[in-house]
Amino acid sequence: MSKTITLTIDDRKVTAPEGEKLLWVALENDIYIPNLCAIKEEGRPSASCRLCFVHVEGLPAPVTSCTQAVREGMVVKTRTPQVDRLVRTAFELLLSDHRLKCSTCPQNRSCELQKIARARGLKLKLKRFKSLGKEYPLYESPGLFTFDRSRCVLCGRCVWVDHEVAKVGAIGFARRGLKRMVTTFGNIDLDASSCTECGLCVKACPVGALNFTGEQSSEKDG
Ligand code: SF4
Ligand code: SF4
Repeated sequence: MSKTITLTIDDRKVTAPEGEKLLWVALENDIYIPNLCAIKEEGRPSASCRLCFVHVEGLPAPVTSCTQAVREGMVVKTRTPQVDRLVRTAFELLLSDHRLKCSTCPQNRSCELQKIARARGLKLKLKRFKSLGKEYPLYESPGLFTFDRSRCVLCGRCVWVDHEVAKVGAIGFARRGLKRMVTTFGNIDLDASSCTECGLCVKACPVGALNFTGEQSSEKDG
């Protein structure tokens, strides 16, 4: 059993099991750090959304809190000018590849992007970057859900639950860079894939990309 250590986050002393990842320690103590791709049970966090930066005293540059293990005496700040700049840039980059129409989105008012914007005083609109303008047709599964790829932020939560919880393996990431996308293996129609329509991926989606058919946003975990 790991020993309990004490660290300081934003001038608050908190205790945690040694080696626990900083992001989860902060969140469990009601200290919000923006995040989209983090999954607590995941052994090796992908740290791909680049939103959970914090400053750790003694380190030369901000670090992603989802990958940083806590240790005795650690002193952490979730907000510094450098951290805020990194988070703002990562957030705006995400928005540049996102169909931003909250008023018509099923996830409006329970969306993680909106939560991050509120928490960090960020605007849900593009200032420095241009929209990539990618639009994809809405996919409708045979009976249960819709997938709006134009709103997918590539967090990977749906893929993780499909593989690790449902243990089906119907979906995965394809391609690299700006062409990266969530799709079925072989890019076949979902109804021809091994998808069982269990709905776990829909519940895991933090934004309005995966939605139950006719969804009220409260049906999702978000
Ligand atoms: S996913 Fe969130 S930010 Fe994007 S349009 Fe929907 S509610 Fe707005
Ligand atoms: S569909 Fe949702 S859960 Fe899956 S990668 Fe896109 S945003 Fe994340």
